[in-house]
Amino acid sequence: MTAKLLVDASYFVVAVLFILGLKAMASPVTARKGIVWAGIGMVVATLVTFFTPGMQNFGLIILAIAIGGVAAWWSGKVVKMTDMPQMVAIYNGMGGGAAAAIAALEFARGGVHGVVFTTLATLGALIGAVSFSGSCVAFAKLQGLMNKAWRLPAQNAVNIVLALVTILVGVGIVVSGDPTPTQIITFFVLSLVLGVIITLPIGGADMPVVISLFNAFTGLAVGFEGYVLGIPALIIAGIVVGAAGTLLTQLMAKAMNRPITNILFSPITGEAQAGSGPTGTMKECSAMDAASMMRYAQKVIIVPGYGMAVAGAQHKVYEMTKLLEEAGVEVKFAIHPVAGRMPGHMNVLLAEAGVPYEQIFDLEEINEEFSQADVALVIGANDVVNPVARTDKTSPIYGMPILNADKAQNVIVIKRGKGAGYSGIENALFFEENCRLCYGSAQGVVSEMIGHVKSLS
Ligand code: NDP
Repeated sequence: MTAKLLVDASYFVVAVLFILGLKAMASPVTARKGIVWAGIGMVVATLVTFFTPGMQNFGLIILAIAIGGVAAWWSGKVVKMTDMPQMVAIYNGMGGGAAAAIAALEFARGGVHGVVFTTLATLGALIGAVSFSGSCVAFAKLQGLMNKAWRLPAQNAVNIVLALVTILVGVGIVVSGDPTPTQIITFFVLSLVLGVIITLPIGGADMPVVISLFNAFTGLAVGFEGYVLGIPALIIAGIVVGAAGTLLTQLMAKAMNRPITNILFSPITGEAQAGSGPTGTMKECSAMDAASMMRYAQKVIIVPGYGMAVAGAQHKVYEMTKLLEEAGVEVKFAIHPVAGRMPGHMNVLLAEAGVPYEQIFDLEEINEEFSQADVALVIGANDVVNPVARTDKTSPIYGMPILNADKAQNVIVIKRGKGAGYSGIENALFFEENCRLCYGSAQGVVSEMIGHVKSLS
């Protein structure tokens, strides 16, 4: 009785830590603290398991924790910032897989009784298995292990039929109450195949949104299985992840102006768009020209994008920012909600480089200011400043809100060559009269600019 009380009280503390941790993660200022709190919650939840009355197999539990802990510690250490989306995908998939595995075991040992429990276990199993196999495909695609646009003939019809058949088998499990091994195996195989089939045709550009959606699914599956097992911490963790994942998915889809159904069922393949692109010529400028334009400007707005992350140029960018400020130039950073490859990607990099939060502005906060800027410096960003999103109804990014870099007096774009952005389409900004391209990898070019700014001071 005392042990049970202690376990329940600990789960309450865990739930509070999860919720406070998530709340703190909402701001870059407190995010680190939030991760630590949620992490402590997870450690407490794990430790409590050992004191749960009736718990057995401690050796196996410790072995699993050791293997999982070492793998997570190692992968967390070595992962590159640009590979973070695939890491999130695979970890998320593991959560879904774990929820599905719990359901499979509970069914196999006849531990699920009553319509409510069987329904929740079945739903958790379906969602968890779809999330697991779908996340594995997402990982393989983002890691470059799989062809990015693999589409079946009549893809949507196949998806619907497969989903219906899987649901029917699931209903059979609920109705029977005591499923046979064949029912269980068929259900899990169908669910896993469904996850693969849904994810295969989705192109790289939409993949982070899909990962976020699977994250929400995983939360839901974990919550359902928590109910089946009667573990409150699992229910709360699942609900928190499910709700956060759903909101994030909605925000990302909105920022890309792509309804979630459109992402799932009419994917952009990442291939270049056919038809007429922008006309005119791209004009080049040297790092010296760019440096003097910025050194004698009153206001410079920097737009970082995926290329800055790839080049790891954030520290150099901030070094240049400080030099410009010392020379009396006002410098601000403009962040598009889907710049880079994951939400908050640019904020994290700039924070890591030491850029003060007050200098970083979201799209709605800064877009009006571009027309007063002498220079917009675009560093490895492309799609998020492409004006066709405003003008070309045939463009796959039409309707996506963009940063109004083109409205600045002068635009300087740092990129290595003629590479397209993630959507694969040409950028009309690069052909505008006020735009100059400064070719090279971001870190090298900004270092050169720093040298020139110093020589001008
Ligand atoms: P983009 O992917 O549109 O463009 C990146 C640009 O960086 C390329 O044009 C490339 O040109 C350049 N680049 C690459 N490497 C370097 C380097 N070492 N130095 C300098 N430049 C480099 O990036 P954006 O950030 O503008 O847009 C993000 C895209 O990702 C959007 O389409 C968005 O919808 C999508 N996306 C983002 C998500 C998110 O959550 N952030 C989620 C889902 C999708 P070149 O090869 O010539 O150098």
